Amino acid sequence: MTAVSTPAASPWVVLKFGGTSVSSVANWSNVALVLRARLAEGLRPVVVHSALSGITDRLEQLLTLALSGEWQPVMDQIEQRHRDLARDLGVVPTPDLEEQFRRLRQIASGIALVGEVSERLRARVMAQGELMATRLGAAYLASQGLNVQWVDARTALKAESRRNANLRSTYLSATCAFEPDLQLQQRWSAPGTVWITQGFIASDDAGDTVLLGRGGSDTSGSYFAAKLQARRLEIWTDVPGMFSANPRAVPTARLLCALEYDEAQEIASSGAKVLHPRCIMPVKHYGIPLYVYATQTPNLEGTVITTHGGTAAQVKAVTIKKNITLLSMETVGMWHSVGFLADAFAVFKEHGLSIDLVSTSETSVTVSLDPAANTLDKATLDGLIADLAKLCRVQVIGPCAAVSLVGRNIRAILHRLGDALELFEEQKIYLVTQAANDLNITFVIDEAQGDRLVSRLHEIAIRKMTADRVLGPTWEELYGSPGQAIDTSKQWWHVRRDALLALGREHGAAFVYDRASLEEKAKSLQALSGIDGVFYALKANWHPEILKLFHAHGLGFECVSQGEVQHVLNTLPTIDRKQILFTPNFTPRDEYAWALEQGVWVTLDNLHPLQHWPELFKGRDVFVRIDTGYGRGHHDKVRTAGVHSKFGVPLFEMDELQRLVNAAGARVVGLHAHTGSGVFTVDNWTSVGETLGALTQRFNEVHTIDLGGGLGVPERLGQPGVVLSEFDAALLQIKQAHPHINLWIEPGRYLVAEAGVLLASVTQLKGKGEVQYVGVATGMNSLIRPALYGAHHEILNLTRIDEPATEVVNVVGPICESGDQLGLDRLLPPTQAGDVLLIATAGAYGRAMSSTYNLREPAKEFVI
Ligand code: ADP
Ligand code: ASP
Ligand code: MG
Repeated sequence: MTAVSTPAASPWVVLKFGGTSVSSVANWSNVALVLRARLAEGLRPVVVHSALSGITDRLEQLLTLALSGEWQPVMDQIEQRHRDLARDLGVVPTPDLEEQFRRLRQIASGIALVGEVSERLRARVMAQGELMATRLGAAYLASQGLNVQWVDARTALKAESRRNANLRSTYLSATCAFEPDLQLQQRWSAPGTVWITQGFIASDDAGDTVLLGRGGSDTSGSYFAAKLQARRLEIWTDVPGMFSANPRAVPTARLLCALEYDEAQEIASSGAKVLHPRCIMPVKHYGIPLYVYATQTPNLEGTVITTHGGTAAQVKAVTIKKNITLLSMETVGMWHSVGFLADAFAVFKEHGLSIDLVSTSETSVTVSLDPAANTLDKATLDGLIADLAKLCRVQVIGPCAAVSLVGRNIRAILHRLGDALELFEEQKIYLVTQAANDLNITFVIDEAQGDRLVSRLHEIAIRKMTADRVLGPTWEELYGSPGQAIDTSKQWWHVRRDALLALGREHGAAFVYDRASLEEKAKSLQALSGIDGVFYALKANWHPEILKLFHAHGLGFECVSQGEVQHVLNTLPTIDRKQILFTPNFTPRDEYAWALEQGVWVTLDNLHPLQHWPELFKGRDVFVRIDTGYGRGHHDKVRTAGVHSKFGVPLFEMDELQRLVNAAGARVVGLHAHTGSGVFTVDNWTSVGETLGALTQRFNEVHTIDLGGGLGVPERLGQPGVVLSEFDAALLQIKQAHPHINLWIEPGRYLVAEAGVLLASVTQLKGKGEVQYVGVATGMNSLIRPALYGAHHEILNLTRIDEPATEVVNVVGPICESGDQLGLDRLLPPTQAGDVLLIATAGAYGRAMSSTYNLREPAKEFVI
């Protein structure tokens, strides 16, 4: 890295806008906004921009079609796109633009006549995309009152001659010198001016047009930033930064807030299209910070790339390159012969092909050819194979995908990737390489498996990592689920917004439960035909009004402590005792004794009580909680079966259970299992039903199977929930297999979570560097789930529910714990003190798990 001038002395800022960024009026108005802000900072903005999106492809098509003389329709399209945008922007196409259209038509008919296209001409034609677009951009910015100077980039960027370059790369994938350019700095020094020029194009010594490779406008921006010794380079595109995976393919991809140049380089080189791999080096060389922003949401903080990345070992991105061809060269007998590799690689060089990855074994060498760097038509490949076949046996494998895990000290974290690597057991891995710089490990597999593997690796290695200065919010969190704007107007809390706002304002913090939603849930479960009994697990929320309401709808209650049983008896004194299940866990002897006396159903969840207090159970009917051996659920801490769980009697203890029950003189009349909460797939209950059903053979006095609860509740708006009809079908199937057995379920969360919200008024705002905090009246003392489980609760600004969410903030409470966060990196409208925030799905395990920690009372409860 070379420091040539201090930032203070270098007032240029280079802003590169990509194809999508320059294709709509909305984006252009943001461009103007950003430029005004840069001018106000006293900077000299240089705009480098691409062709309108898709136009470079069209120009390539034009060249191909010109050969057969059928170029007119594509040319018409190209022209129309520019005329349409001009109209939308309210500008008239300049004479230069009209001239360009005319020249392009001339060239196309020339090609049709001659019947061939040279690389030189190809470069000239494809350069027109950027030239046409910048004419429109300059006209629009001028119409907005900015002082604009249009410059032909070819007068400023000069291609360097490269050894061994073939004609194709000379014209279509050139590189340029980027030393500080005093002349350019002088030419572009006028203050208050916006310089606008093209990406992607440069010129060579002969004055011919050359291109910087597809996607090369980023590199143009970087060259200009280096030449001008700009204070920063800003890449404006259609995503607000580099993400931990392509966010359009993996919506849970995390924003990478801060990266080091080498990491960004590695992510770009291994397939993340957002930055052209060649654009990092020039800015890195001079230590110029590179920012990535989204033009459509200019206020979102993007990625900053500097010399300071995170140093901790961490996987930062999962990337994919497709359409990779592998060549495996079997070298039987030749591997140890001197010069084999040199000879083989020379063949690639002769054919103008560059090798990407290499791996060697005792008898073979496998290399990959990356289509981004090579033109791999059939003729080229056949020629290569024919020549290689003189040296060794060649096998072509493809199309393949190269999936890479990119991060810092990747070697140090390999052991943590055990789970991720297990995924490859079902795959054929053709090639594995680990970069010498320890930033990357790459697996080459069949292309068809590529995307699936990326999502699964991302899920395991990145998605759930806690946020830090590198890993930011997910794409979904920033933009909502792609393609669907989430309409909240039908949510009960939107409909009853006025009542909620009044409560929020009056009390500062309040849990509010909606009676109609509670009733609807109770009815929907009671309506299931496969079910004989619904027992509400009141640990989720024991508000007396809720218990009364559920009782009125015929629900029973599942209690886990003497306190809960007592609470039901106090609230509903006339309740039939057989409407109460007592399902404790490691509860003391006297609670069992008490519960048995009360005449409620008692469930045993380990053998100790039978072994040590058999007298309690003499002549009693009991339920037994079975550990089915597998746990499900949204978080490790809520998986309640399997060897790592403290719940239930394991299947291997069934003989012992039977012996102890007989010895105690008790009867097992019910079997129960609960495999965890937050389960969305109904096969969970099918398999629980099968396991428990099979046990009824052994315990033949069993009249009831209790399948537990765990029905998942979507934690994000727009996320699908359990399909009740499918659940019912699964229950009916169990019922069919065991027609004489009652089927019970005991949902908690499902019945109350969505019917409740936590309201918290904003007490203060604080900006700490780049992190904005919104402080609210209550925190983990009311709702501990985010701190305890990392649970996600949607947060909305109820006061400003109709305003666009444009700011990313952390919502925190008043408790003296750094974990007192209700939501990190949430997108909210600009928020003010006094606004009421709504924290959704807080009806379950909100107030129930609250505390008076710090001697702060949790939010009061209201049923409306
Ligand atoms: P522009 O036209 O602005 O140069 P590009 O299409 O070249 O934009 O690059 C932006 C696209 O890069 C995004 O729309 C996104 O789909 C893709 N992309 C691939 N991988 C990543 C990643 N890891 N982070 C962000 N974007 C990525
Ligand atoms: N317009 C060129 C392309 O589509 C360059 C760029 O957009 O970066 O490849
Ligand atoms: Mg690009």
